[in-house]
Amino acid sequence: MRLLCKFVILMSLGVCSVCAKPNVYILATGGTIAGSSKSALSSAYKSGSLSVDSLLGAIPQAKELANLKAEQISNIGSQEMNDAVWLKLAKRVQALLSKKDVDGVVITHGTDTMEETAYFLNLVIKSAKPVVMVGAMRNADSLSADGPLNLYNAIAVASDVQSKGKGVLVVMDDAIHAAREVSKTNTTGVDTFKSLNSGPLGHVLYGHVRFYMQSLRKHTLESAFDIAQIHDLPRVDIIYSHANDHADFVQSALQHGAKGIVSAGMGNGNLYPSILEALAQAAKKGVAVVRSSRVGSGFITRPGEIDDSQYGFVSGDNLNPQKARVLLMLALSQTHDPQKIQNYFDTH
Ligand code: ASP
Repeated sequence: MRLLCKFVILMSLGVCSVCAKPNVYILATGGTIAGSSKSALSSAYKSGSLSVDSLLGAIPQAKELANLKAEQISNIGSQEMNDAVWLKLAKRVQALLSKKDVDGVVITHGTDTMEETAYFLNLVIKSAKPVVMVGAMRNADSLSADGPLNLYNAIAVASDVQSKGKGVLVVMDDAIHAAREVSKTNTTGVDTFKSLNSGPLGHVLYGHVRFYMQSLRKHTLESAFDIAQIHDLPRVDIIYSHANDHADFVQSALQHGAKGIVSAGMGNGNLYPSILEALAQAAKKGVAVVRSSRVGSGFITRPGEIDDSQYGFVSGDNLNPQKARVLLMLALSQTHDPQKIQNYFDTH
């Protein structure tokens, strides 16, 4: 009854509450989507050159999808992404989504570290409202720039009620990916983003959204982590393995105060003998050691050729090293116990 009255009053004012557009914020951080170049046919360009207003200026059609408001958080190539920007961005996303009159957030971002930022937000934001990350592989001055349509599609996904409760999403090249699953797989191709272990959640074609699946791992409201409790992040380093390896980088990480090490191991997380020894010593001293793989897809078995429980290691499941690093930093904000850290890796 109350709803009907509200509807009738709004209708008499010429506003239909049923077809009211959602309110979506665009938070810009930089990247190739905001990049510019002297030539439409050059591979040389500068990331993070254009303002968020000029990105939206290229897609006037987006105003039909949602009421848009825009803010510039940073304007950097995402290879410069750092903890300070992550914390600022996450706190702003949380503050916006906590407002009743904000329905979703779109974040423009460089593609190099988009998967890391997406997974970080996926783990710390407490809201079911859509958070959608988007970027581009071709700068804004390039022939066939992919940014405008990617951004339009991201706004469509953020405006769609189907996107609620699915965690942080990444929209690129007509695909909708889950933050935990997606990674950049090609240095230059517009179809670079793939969810190698699971496939995308859905697709978005000229703003028409279709979902087919969703993630079963904990995120946003169910995650153990909350941006309200996070003020800084511990140092966690990634050590990349190769034939004829040397343990010096493990020593260096420890000397520089790493609280955790993610090993980008060979195959199923395997390690050159001297690295295995150095990491076992690190774990004995209380440094968290997570085994992941440089391969790019698949999970780490526990145990495999290496028995994690013998060395006090954590298995990184099917997270790639850069995502394992994000989860380990957050896990270390709560515990240093390898078993409890393993539990986070098994569930998030
Ligand atoms: N280096 C750029 C960045 O990550 C690449 C891109 O956005 O596609 O900001």
